[in-house]
Amino acid sequence: MRNESSTPEAVPAVPLAFPQPTSPVTARHADGTLIDRYGRHVTYLRLSVTDRCDFRCGYCMAEEMSFLPRAQVLTLEECLRVARAFVDLGVSKVRVTGGEPLVRHDVVWLLERLARLPGLRELVITTNGSQLERFAAALCTAGVRRINVSLDTLRADRFREITRVGDLAKVLRGLAAAQAAGFERLKLNTVMMRGRNDDELLGLVEFAVERGMDIAFIEEMPLGEIGHGRQTSYFSSEEALARLQTRFRLLPSTETTGGPARYWRIPDTATRVGFISPHSHNFCDSCNRVRVTARGELYPCLGNNDASQLLPLLRAHPTDDTALRTAIVRSMGIKAKGHDFGNQMDAPQVIRFMSMTGG
Ligand code: SAM
Ligand code: SF4
Repeated sequence: MRNESSTPEAVPAVPLAFPQPTSPVTARHADGTLIDRYGRHVTYLRLSVTDRCDFRCGYCMAEEMSFLPRAQVLTLEECLRVARAFVDLGVSKVRVTGGEPLVRHDVVWLLERLARLPGLRELVITTNGSQLERFAAALCTAGVRRINVSLDTLRADRFREITRVGDLAKVLRGLAAAQAAGFERLKLNTVMMRGRNDDELLGLVEFAVERGMDIAFIEEMPLGEIGHGRQTSYFSSEEALARLQTRFRLLPSTETTGGPARYWRIPDTATRVGFISPHSHNFCDSCNRVRVTARGELYPCLGNNDASQLLPLLRAHPTDDTALRTAIVRSMGIKAKGHDFGNQMDAPQVIRFMSMTGG
């Protein structure tokens, strides 16, 4: 066992939120597979290891954030137990995210152990890149095969504006270190914002092509109370695609990750261009993922507030995962059929910040 100083002293007073009688538990646990009420197989866990971050991106966080007290955050051992339970139940892909996962102390300890879980085929991480220069080699050695790095602009002044505190040069050095470390794939994630970075979409694709990276453009989602004018900054995947087609030949690809991304290939390059379109395309029918937050809330749907609380179970049963596994299976009964972010960009239907839920 790892001797982490954040070992919990007390079980925080969070209510259990198992499916209510009005929401019948109809999930099946067949052959180690999680299947929800609508027949969707859950094979992908997005695990947030911290709500903290060294950036304050305007679409993700408020300028002044208060973060969770340590005792309310899953320890790394608890993160491992949660992931192990999911993998035992048929999950084959785990993405470690946050907040910023690389600001979590000892996160490499966790990644090394996740990589060794029997049955786990893909261990990936999403990062803002600020610590990548320092961590790239260790992540690769730990068994992380692919990394997503958020990059909304190639202009240092804008980067500072969008992230409020970030240093572009540091992230670019992190990307170079990741390329040198030899990951299978690197992908850039770009949130599209009209008037803030939409004039850089072509330049960002060129940057990706030159380096053999993938790039995904993300429509901004209305999560958390931020009020930075989403209604006016919203930029759709359709418009982005049309703009990219003025310079690049894009061939539709059949590849899918079971999520909101649709991919295109640029012939004669190694680059795939993805569009993540929670607004303009409904991807719920093929949804294969669930999220666990840094405080152990299991959210079966990003766009819905129903959750199961895993942290009290972990702490009430420190050496037995039976209750944890039961809660995970039962959570299939509250996975919503779909979400609808609608057109109300500045009035979030979901009150959580993205940094809380795990992007
Ligand atoms: N800190 C890491 C990072 O920035 O990559 C990981 C966590 S972050 C919450 C994960 C992803 O969510 C990032 O690519 C970020 O751009 C995206 N994101 C955050 N808030 C968003 C929003 N409101 N709409 C769309 N994407 C968002
Ligand atoms: Fe931090 Fe990532 Fe949110 Fe930006 S998007 S504030 S880097 S968690």
